[in-house]
Amino acid sequence: MNYDTDLMHFAEDPAGQKGAVVPPISQNSLFTFESWDAIDEAFQKPADSYIYSRGINPTVEIAERKIAQLAGGERARLFASGMGAISSAILHYVKQGDHIVTVKNVYGPTSNFLGKYLPEKCGITTTFVEGNSIEDFEQAITEKTKLIYLESPSSVVFSLQDIQAVTSLAKSKGIHTVIDNTWATPIFQRPLELGIDLEVHSVSKYLGGHSDIVSGVIIGKAEDIRSIILTEHALLGAKMAPYEAWLLIRSLRTLTLRMEKHQSNAMAVAEWLEAHPQVGLVMHPALPSSSQHELYKKQMTGGSGLFAFNLKETELPKIKAFVNACSLFQIGVSWGGHESLIYAPAISLAKEIPPERFCDLGIELGTIRLSVGLENPQDLIADLSQAFAAMNS
Ligand SMILES: *Cc1c(COP(=O)(O)O)cnc(C)c1O
Repeated sequence: MNYDTDLMHFAEDPAGQKGAVVPPISQNSLFTFESWDAIDEAFQKPADSYIYSRGINPTVEIAERKIAQLAGGERARLFASGMGAISSAILHYVKQGDHIVTVKNVYGPTSNFLGKYLPEKCGITTTFVEGNSIEDFEQAITEKTKLIYLESPSSVVFSLQDIQAVTSLAKSKGIHTVIDNTWATPIFQRPLELGIDLEVHSVSKYLGGHSDIVSGVIIGKAEDIRSIILTEHALLGAKMAPYEAWLLIRSLRTLTLRMEKHQSNAMAVAEWLEAHPQVGLVMHPALPSSSQHELYKKQMTGGSGLFAFNLKETELPKIKAFVNACSLFQIGVSWGGHESLIYAPAISLAKEIPPERFCDLGIELGTIRLSVGLENPQDLIADLSQAFAAMNS
């Protein structure tokens, strides 16, 4: 079946549940057995048996099987958050003394995990590279490099890495690869088919899509996922709850439709902004003006609704006035839900580095991030238009 059909029906069994068209929530912590031998047998296959819901739970399993099918992976494991999935995927491939290469605009908490937590607690070091060219990775690799961690498009500036080129380089040196594919979803980018070992997502964004779930997922080969289930997942314990999995099964049914609408809405808003006299650079790889548009066309089939633009305005009170004047675009972190959001990366960045160093990360004081939701695009543009008027008044 095509994946849009699979998102409706794959891994579901209405006949096994009296015809109920939506699966039940298996809200149980444990499973009981008929006998000593029956539970003994279950323990022979702990990554595949219903024993205890930190391990395998029927509702979570339906969502995992759907996501694996969607991404073209053999198996998926859901986690309590995107960071639960990301930290586990990274730990799966490294041990004390190993080295990792990643991109400098990687998601903030991932950057802290790699750049601060792992070196201090585990003696695992990371080199952060620009990532726009394959030479960046070649130069950073040492004999100790065991993992290249990608995020394409990256956070805040939405720059791309050539996934195919990186996986060929990594394979030639026996290095594993992980990618954060939250932005594109498997609908618009299929990293496992480009040779990536593990694909991770913050399910809290588009896969959940309704701003009512915090969750994460790792997708990959069955052998890798089985090992993660028995080690990083079981021991660190960042497990997905059955109710969240049930909401996710609901969300996945509309993923294809939602992504198409996020894409068309985002393009309408981004093109309107590009033509606005008070806007500088608009950072969305699907725009033909993007310096990486060729790479975008090579490895992606669409673009989602999160992007950034620079206001030409440089005075903080005016920039604040613009953000505060938006009303349909609500102020908030996170993204990928039905609702449109506005955020200025400078707000959180200023807590970590002085504004003079924002340019190191490609950010300005007036860089504005939009998560374009599922509203009518005319209404979204009208909201931004009145915010410009308010800023100028
Ligand atoms: C939000 C986000 C995460 C973290 O996911 P949580 O579900 O919040 O833990 C990871 N990567 C990217 C790109 C994100 O935007």
